[in-house]
Amino acid sequence: MADTNAECNIKVLCRFRPLNESEIVRGDKFIPIFQGEDTVIFGGKAYVFDQVFPTNTTQEQVYNTCAKQIVKDVLGGYNGTIFAYGQTSSGKTHTMEGNLHDPQAMGIMPRIAQDIFEHIFAMDENLEFHIKVLTKNNLSVHEDKYRVPYVKGCSERFVTSPEEVMDVIDEGKANRHVAVTNMNEHSSRSHSIFLINIKQENVETEQKLSGKLYLVDLAGSEKVSKTGAEGAVLDEAKNINKSLSALGNVISALAEGTKSHVPYRDSKMTRILQDSLGGNCRTTMFICCSPSSYNDVETKSTLMFGQRAK
Ligand code: ADP
Ligand code: MG
Repeated sequence: MADTNAECNIKVLCRFRPLNESEIVRGDKFIPIFQGEDTVIFGGKAYVFDQVFPTNTTQEQVYNTCAKQIVKDVLGGYNGTIFAYGQTSSGKTHTMEGNLHDPQAMGIMPRIAQDIFEHIFAMDENLEFHIKVLTKNNLSVHEDKYRVPYVKGCSERFVTSPEEVMDVIDEGKANRHVAVTNMNEHSSRSHSIFLINIKQENVETEQKLSGKLYLVDLAGSEKVSKTGAEGAVLDEAKNINKSLSALGNVISALAEGTKSHVPYRDSKMTRILQDSLGGNCRTTMFICCSPSSYNDVETKSTLMFGQRAK
């Protein structure tokens, strides 16, 4: 991947998962054709990103290519955000969390937890660190028109080891509100946000530095109709789609480099993330895609979303 360009701190990475068993049994076709490191042809159209990860890419390769540098930057006092965008079952949670307790299958979050502490143990002894992690789920509930008060699912804690970070990730997972839809009964139609806040102070010079990193597993981007939702679930789905397009608008305004209006205030999420998006911040968006012919309409719309951020 091209080296960090100071002028362009938004990276868009596209990852395709393999066909799953039921797709193979159904006889779905494998649609993407990968070209070089940064291009995928899908349905006859070429989409170019900062990097395209074909289906056989390992969790470690993904981490090394995109997240490793962000950890260094956050320890250097920058803010950052890593998103995963895509329809339900496209691989968002696999990319962000993966299997938390399997060294090979673990995703970005547990790797970041380990990496941060490895860096810290190797740093100047005069540095004192205060690391705080926070999980927030159900942002969509916050935004719904009934003004349902904030539901449980937020825990904040100071941590001193990767294991303690992992505990908070586990708890966040357990608290996650799961709205059952026809599309996938395990699907979670809400955004989940994980924040790592690192403050450091040099006890000799009293110099202070702080950086924070948001890790956002976005709600599935599928169209409402495909989920077969009704009533309150339908309202929630509409809110989710609204907040995703608000995010798209913010990222695309930032990518254009327009100094003028970035519509941060259009959604709760972009308001929360405002100081960690654009400008000097490190922003990475994973565009997660299904390779199956069955999902091709959703995949095209996901790829288009990613293109807007370029
Ligand atoms: P999402 O969070 O977007 O709804 P998941 O991350 O839960 O989707 O992925 C759906 C299923 O596909 C899971 O069983 C996951 O383990 C599997 N999967 C996703 N991405 C990959 C991948 N790159 N390689 C292998 N399996 C994957
Ligand atoms: Mg998920």
